[in-house]
Amino acid sequence: MKKTCTVIGGGTSGLMAGALLSVSGFEVTVLEKNPSSGGGMQMFTRSGTTFETGMHVIAGHHGGLVGKLLGFLGIRDEIEIIDTDPDVADSVYVVSEGRSYRIPYGKEAFIKYLSGEFPHEAANIRAYTEELFHIYGSFPLIGASVPDERAVLGGTADEFIANYVKDERLRSLLGWLNMMSGTVAGRTPVYVHAVINALYISGAGRLAGGPAALVKALCRIIRVNGGRVLNGEKVTGINVKDGFVASVSTEKGGTWQSDSYLWACGVKELAALAGKSCFSRFFIGRLAAAEDSFSAFSVFIKLKKETLEYVNHSLWWHSDMEAMWRGGNSSEESWPSSILYMTPPSAGQGRWADRLIALVPMDFGLAGGWAGTCRRDRPVEYLSWKTDMTEKVLDCLEAVLPGIRGMAEDISSASPLTVRDWYGNSSGGIYGLSREVANVFGNGISPRTKLGNLFLAGQDLKLHGLCGAWASALIAAAGIIGNDEIINDVLYERY
Ligand SMILES: Cc1cc2nc3c(=O)[nH]c(=O)nc-3n(C[C@H](O)[C@H](O)[C@H](O)COP(=O)(O)OP(=O)(O)OC[C@H]3O[C@@H](n4cnc5c(N)ncnc54)[C@H](O)[C@@H]3O)c2cc1C
Repeated sequence: MKKTCTVIGGGTSGLMAGALLSVSGFEVTVLEKNPSSGGGMQMFTRSGTTFETGMHVIAGHHGGLVGKLLGFLGIRDEIEIIDTDPDVADSVYVVSEGRSYRIPYGKEAFIKYLSGEFPHEAANIRAYTEELFHIYGSFPLIGASVPDERAVLGGTADEFIANYVKDERLRSLLGWLNMMSGTVAGRTPVYVHAVINALYISGAGRLAGGPAALVKALCRIIRVNGGRVLNGEKVTGINVKDGFVASVSTEKGGTWQSDSYLWACGVKELAALAGKSCFSRFFIGRLAAAEDSFSAFSVFIKLKKETLEYVNHSLWWHSDMEAMWRGGNSSEESWPSSILYMTPPSAGQGRWADRLIALVPMDFGLAGGWAGTCRRDRPVEYLSWKTDMTEKVLDCLEAVLPGIRGMAEDISSASPLTVRDWYGNSSGGIYGLSREVANVFGNGISPRTKLGNLFLAGQDLKLHGLCGAWASALIAAAGIIGNDEIINDVLYERY
């Protein structure tokens, strides 16, 4: 008889772990609380146009963990990934400088471009980039397999940069990806900056038509191997017996039993459900003290036909150089100070873009006044605040995309409250727990719990994003299978 596993959370890590277990002979049941699965890979359709909610830009698909996992599952050819332009992977506009920086991908191209912009720092740029890649290379699973203590204990990202670079403007600019890495000055450990920046410098890409094809492929693998993905099934109870999970129960009243269980969503939510039966008292205390990463406000624009040309890279708008390091931290008056915007590719992308998405870091507190409301009963004041915030974003975009309002056929937005309710975390953190130098706790949570058959996966464990979530899924799958063979099979492409 097949071994069985129940995966709680049909998101990025849950679906990957479910697929890995399915091809390893397990019968997998995925329980997802939302009406559709995907988590950070979810999309929504409005006025006939489909938008990405979380996964916009990916990395690690060229010979990295993402590419290896797709290869292991035999779906590399059915997922269309479009690389961003090599000569400009990111265009970074800084209002206070009145100009853009056009950052290319590829380690040598990156060093050459920045050395051209900051010739007096050329040697330092090379030394910084070499160390960045060294840390990335020593990061378990994502870079290589041998951990390097400097990666976790090396101080904050901004201290690390300052060790190499003297020019204040260049120090700031090296944080142009901070919105993607969740990096904040004085707080975020160097490994987060190093791994994510090196991954993106090595080559970023976007999924044509968004992550929908990926979600479909992972669900199919689970189903053809005898499993199921059940949406609208929120897990609300963990039933424990003799140090093991006996079953989980759902809001709808269902009970699910299996040999093992994988919790593939927020760790704080699990602690709230299962508490001391699952984690030590010490762990629960540290978890309660751990903050969430910053949240985001998103604007989704359906474009009128043939009004805006498709741009094959990410675009950034920053009010000033320091804005890159503030995270979601700003008052309503000074918000927004950083915007990531893009025209995501559709399948068979041609000259014109059909949609534009703008993401703006925002602390939950700015929407916190309405924290007690839920999706269907938000008050008028909240809706009018959301409109004001959307207008602020459009005002900034007008400076870089003149006439953007006139190009829009439909505009909608999502606030930190939407993120909270959609993903099921407590304060809308887009990357799960905040990584903090001052609190090493959030920098490495074990995939094992006190309960013998309950494992953990997801962005809370070590790193967010597709690579971080999938690395955790692979480790958890190995734990559930009971040996590391699957990790070696994936890493050394033994398939
Ligand atoms: C606005 C935004 C932009 C982002 N941009 C990028 C990007 O460009 N590139 C990138 O790599 N990453 C990006 N990310 C981050 C990325 O989406 C996450 O790091 C990743 O999805 C985390 O995977 P996960 O499996 O931990 O959680 P998720 O993918 O969120 O999956 C968790 C799932 O569990 C479900 N769930 C929660 N509680 C329960 C319960 N009690 N019972 C059943 N189901 C439950 C949730 O509904 C969800 O589907 C972005 C995130 C956001 C929010």
